[in-house]
Amino acid sequence: MARRLGHISATANKDAASFDTLGYTAHDVSGALRREGVSATLTSLFPIEKMTAAEREREDALREGVDIRGGVMPVEVIRDASGKATGLKMVECDMKGMQPIAREGTEFVIECDIIVSAIGQMGDLAEGLAGLDNGKGFIAVETGYKVKGKDKHFAGGDVIRPHLLTTAIGHGRVAAETIGVYLKGREIEKRPKVDVHQFNLLEELHQRNLDPVKYEGGQIRGTADAKYAVHNFEDRSAAQIISHELLYKGHFPFVARNRRHERHVDSQNVIGDFEERIVAFSEEQARKEGERCMSCGMCFECDNCVIYCPQTAVARVPKKERALGRYVETDYTKCVGCHICADVCPTGYIQMGLGE
Ligand code: SF4
Ligand code: SF4
Repeated sequence: MARRLGHISATANKDAASFDTLGYTAHDVSGALRREGVSATLTSLFPIEKMTAAEREREDALREGVDIRGGVMPVEVIRDASGKATGLKMVECDMKGMQPIAREGTEFVIECDIIVSAIGQMGDLAEGLAGLDNGKGFIAVETGYKVKGKDKHFAGGDVIRPHLLTTAIGHGRVAAETIGVYLKGREIEKRPKVDVHQFNLLEELHQRNLDPVKYEGGQIRGTADAKYAVHNFEDRSAAQIISHELLYKGHFPFVARNRRHERHVDSQNVIGDFEERIVAFSEEQARKEGERCMSCGMCFECDNCVIYCPQTAVARVPKKERALGRYVETDYTKCVGCHICADVCPTGYIQMGLGE
């Protein structure tokens, strides 16, 4: 029985497997092998407690009967006369940074007939993409995932840095945005470390036919009633993340987190069990978890500022003029700068410009 699973580099006729990695892919492969009834050995350059895969993954693997060996590195594939793999020669090793150093004289062989290499890969750029190769099988990028030193070229995913699928999807999204900026002839700017999605008040107003009117020029005393000015709005993009210290937590009763249920499968029952180990939320659970959102940094129309302002300086914007992000307005001729509205705002949406 010869099998092929994932990146199998050798196959033969025994029911054992071994593969070498630091993390998640090896756990996925070993878990799949156990479910197929194969005995699996998972090896890692790092000691078991320092493997980069999550502890939960390691616990699942051990429970399901995977033999995990840490602090070892592969030396050689052992083959029989026909060239088929019969084992993997290993040696114990110590890690110096990301560099494994073999301990001489500690070699041993893991007998197996399937060897899966679940280690980091690199791109095959030879066919037409050689000009993008940074010399190490990867593509080097700069701000916005533009290829370094190349106009009109953008790249993302494992070919710039092997990581998670979700990371690659994020690269694609950011690169698409950068391409838009590039096509408009604007400069590609560095992005904030955490990419928080901001609402665009002008866009919100536009959608409601509330665009500010054109400024006709000339000097006018005061703009309180001017329809060309957007009042009570500050572009918060400079302070996108509202820290928990700025929230008024007294507003929020404690609501326990909804955790996804985990199934633990033991080695006696693992064969043929392809059900999810981490059970997805039901619609009801997902809704409840969504209700825990504290709307950090975004007005959620609670009226606290209207109620608590001692000067009655804060008022609701008339209904027909409201938009997302424009629910309340302040009359600065009444405001005495007492900070009460900012203190009672549950979401940290009100920022005072009058000092601490
Ligand atoms: S700072 Fe004080 S007076 Fe001014 S709007 Fe806020 S609560 Fe009212
Ligand atoms: S600004 Fe803050 S306090 Fe005022 S309504 Fe919005 S969330 Fe509530």
